[in-house]
Amino acid sequence: MRTDLVVALDIGGTKIAGALVDAGGRIVVRAQRATPAREDGETVMGAVAAVVAELAGSPLWASASAVGIGSAGPVDASTGTVSPVNVPGWRDFPLVERVHRATGGLPVTLVGDGVAMTAAEHWQGAARGHDNALCLVVSTGVGGGLVLDGRVHPGPTGNAGHIGHMSVDLDGESCACGGRGCVEQIASGPNIARRALGNGWRPGPDGDASAAAVAAAARAGDPVAVASFARAAQALAAGIAATATLVEIDIAVIGGGVAGAGPVLFDPLRRSLRSYATLSFVQNLTVVPALTGTDAGLLGAAAAATPRTGIPGAVSTSP
Ligand SMILES: [Zn+2]
Repeated sequence: MRTDLVVALDIGGTKIAGALVDAGGRIVVRAQRATPAREDGETVMGAVAAVVAELAGSPLWASASAVGIGSAGPVDASTGTVSPVNVPGWRDFPLVERVHRATGGLPVTLVGDGVAMTAAEHWQGAARGHDNALCLVVSTGVGGGLVLDGRVHPGPTGNAGHIGHMSVDLDGESCACGGRGCVEQIASGPNIARRALGNGWRPGPDGDASAAAVAAAARAGDPVAVASFARAAQALAAGIAATATLVEIDIAVIGGGVAGAGPVLFDPLRRSLRSYATLSFVQNLTVVPALTGTDAGLLGAAAAATPRTGIPGAVSTSP
């Protein structure tokens, strides 16, 4: 009997995706439910259980030997609990234990979504072959994760590399995390849009005031839109340069919806990086777009549970 499959769960504030993934990173079965994010914790768990049940209905389920979960954070891999900001019904929710039971006793590994995306990019994407990398997800928030000495580095609770809440503006605006001048406060999609609107940019006839609409305006040459992306790029560059100086990464990989803006983000980011990453050992740092796309969460969850790519330090409940 083949035992080369892992169960991957990607849990976010909008959807709960599940898959059976083989050792080559191919997704062989999928299931998905909307996240009932405003409901109580048991209802949210019911959606997770429904995804697991659908996967378990596949004849391939018998080949699955482990479960990896990438969840919106904060997570605590040391206790197996999650408290996603966007899922208020889950506070210190014992997700590892519940999934362990729902899967009939498979061992479960939990990581945060930023670490999961990093594992995906290191396994199958733009960080492949790099022993020291920073991966970022820039979308509604800004998350990230680190590869150090050839291994994904989750940290004790699964949150290491969370660049979004690194302060790059000492006297900047206060952030939802309680800090001030965080990268996320300047570079997330909603903040790019907010800053453009505040400086006089107006959406087109369709009323779309998202960061994607600001990106389209920037591509068309709108100076306010260009400036809003340049400011976001500057914050990301400062955070990336600080990380590189601290732990000597040689590549930064950027995914998430805002990375879809393309050169409007990456051109000023590479320019800004030259003014922050100045020491000899960080001058060759490259910044590239992520490659694993919308499956990053599932692939990263699978990587976390796969012995060959397995992530040290993440919690695992044994059968
Ligand atoms: Zn913050």
